[in-house]
Amino acid sequence: MPGTRPLILITNDDGYDAPGIHALTEAVLGLGQVVVSAPDREQSGASHALTLDRPLRVRTVADGRYRITGTPTDCVHLAVDKLCGRLPDLVLSGINRGLNVGDDVTYSGTVAGALEGALLRIPAVAVSTATPPEGPIDYAQAARIACRVAERVLAEGLPTGTLLNVNVPHVPAKSIRVTRQGTREYRATAVERKDPSGRPYYWIDDIDMTPTGEPDGDHRAVAEGYVSISPLHTNMTHENSLESLAGWVEDLL
Ligand SMILES: [Mg+2]
Repeated sequence: MPGTRPLILITNDDGYDAPGIHALTEAVLGLGQVVVSAPDREQSGASHALTLDRPLRVRTVADGRYRITGTPTDCVHLAVDKLCGRLPDLVLSGINRGLNVGDDVTYSGTVAGALEGALLRIPAVAVSTATPPEGPIDYAQAARIACRVAERVLAEGLPTGTLLNVNVPHVPAKSIRVTRQGTREYRATAVERKDPSGRPYYWIDDIDMTPTGEPDGDHRAVAEGYVSISPLHTNMTHENSLESLAGWVEDLL
């Protein structure tokens, strides 16, 4: 409809009360009508989980502000179908407390919130910021960049089924690099503890990360003080394997 303000749907995985989503919301209020649909508790590491085994509850905090008893994917899915009133023009997810680069992208509920937007054919952007070695996170830089990126995506759109994964350093950024999703040296670890009755329980621990990564990767860009913007897409097919796989599956039956 001519003259209609863009509708921006915001979610995150740190939960409705996290400071990052409030910084993001404040930053983009001038760009259009904003609906916030976020998990009622932390969902970091939830990836693209969709809740199918229990009902979802929606608590309306204020007009256009919703806390949902679900994952970031649930929040986007539900908002698009029931809460927004019309199809959003943009989905924003974040600002996450901590980077989502390299293999972390596959675990990230923040990226998954944007991924759900992309799957629903809505341009989408995930935003994460690095945590400083000590002290509180300042979300101001990431919020400012998110707003600029959002403005651009609203104006120009994105190819269908793609999203942007934006990662912001904790230091003032030198500039912005367009990057690939990188990889990292990965080691799975878990800390074992004992409960009062002596039975073991476990915490998944931090995992080693490649400090800098590939020259054109997301890790390297942020480590060198740049904002990293990676275009990601929803289709996971590895094109280069199609031919070789066709060669060896002939003998399987
Ligand atoms: Mg998180």
